Amino acid sequence: MPALLQRQQGMSEKIIETDALIVGAGPVGLFQVFELGLLGVKAHVIDTMRVAGGQCTELYPDKPIYDIPGIPVCSGEELIENLMVQIEPFNPVFHLGEEVTVVEALDDDWFRVVTDNDSEFRTRTVFIAGGVGSFQPRRLRFEGIETFEDRNLFYKVRDPSRFEGKHVVILGGGDSALDWVVELAPKSNGITSIHRRDEYRGAQATVDKMMALAGEGKVEPIIGKVSGYKSDDDGITAITVEVGDEEREIPCDAVLAFYGLAPKLGPIAEWGLDINRKTINVDTEKFETSTPGIYAVGDINYYPGKKKLILSGFHEAALAAFAAKERIEPEKKVRLQYTTTSPLMHERLGIAED
Ligand code: FAD
Repeated sequence: MPALLQRQQGMSEKIIETDALIVGAGPVGLFQVFELGLLGVKAHVIDTMRVAGGQCTELYPDKPIYDIPGIPVCSGEELIENLMVQIEPFNPVFHLGEEVTVVEALDDDWFRVVTDNDSEFRTRTVFIAGGVGSFQPRRLRFEGIETFEDRNLFYKVRDPSRFEGKHVVILGGGDSALDWVVELAPKSNGITSIHRRDEYRGAQATVDKMMALAGEGKVEPIIGKVSGYKSDDDGITAITVEVGDEEREIPCDAVLAFYGLAPKLGPIAEWGLDINRKTINVDTEKFETSTPGIYAVGDINYYPGKKKLILSGFHEAALAAFAAKERIEPEKKVRLQYTTTSPLMHERLGIAED
């Protein structure tokens, strides 16, 4: 499609075409890559988070899991590391740090998928492996403050250069907050870090770096409770903070808030699918949703007897992959082949002998 026409139609400069697109890089989304790969279908994977792993990485990286078949015990992080190794032969293309906002069926049996970063895809099949939803930043709850979001109040940093030469207030005491304090400080016009406790949750090495920058006068760490904000027509002009019995006003050009993440079904609810509370109804033959060609696997789906377990999601991913292969290549019969003995499987896994 000519670039001019794309621009006129409000499309991204480059539309990525693929046979399969997976929404969610949790354990089930990753295993979906594997099952599709065995059938010769290459996938793109999109996740709101900047790292793959879903709940395993976000909620319990160090906790042991005991019910993955064949693995007596592994941590959440180890499971994800192993899945990443397992899918390596299939070279999935990851788009991390992007939320899928639009999934719509086009007239020609293709789907249009768009992210909040304006990436745009055309895909033959969509796999929603969205778990308990997309992890969204916990937002500030002061009246009217939402009007300043993406003006000079941000919950994630897309373009660090916009903070150059600015006085930035960074809220929170975890890794995200501290990483950005340290990263933005050198080119900013001063950073104020506000955290409610004098114990930081972020890595000690980053806390030490922040304190070193404080020693150089580039960062002011404040321990206190954010109590409100001041604004004018252009945006937030100051953050007010209770420090002991005193209320201080910290003038600022921009505010970055990192108060952690909470899962929300988010945009998935708007894709016209048959939703059952916060899950998507599927059949148990193909794990297909009410829209043919869109499958839902893992914690996000619902069918009678559903159990939100990783192993259930793995089974669902296998059957959904077979169904999708038939849709992508209806003229070809899809045969079940064993990875132990099939030369074709070995070729796809990159372990074929010459
Ligand atoms: P998730 O892991 O939730 O991943 C979904 C991903 O989709 C997320 O990364 C999210 O950011 C992304 N996403 C959602 N919407 C969008 C969107 N619109 N755009 C882009 N990305 C999106 N299960 C077991 O089997 N055994 C256990 O021992 C076990 N222990 C657990 C312990 C704890 C503390 C918790 C919280 C869960 C445990 N579970 C366990 C459950 C298990 O973690 C889930 O069943 C599993 O993570 C589901 O995987 P998933 O890939 O379906 O979804």
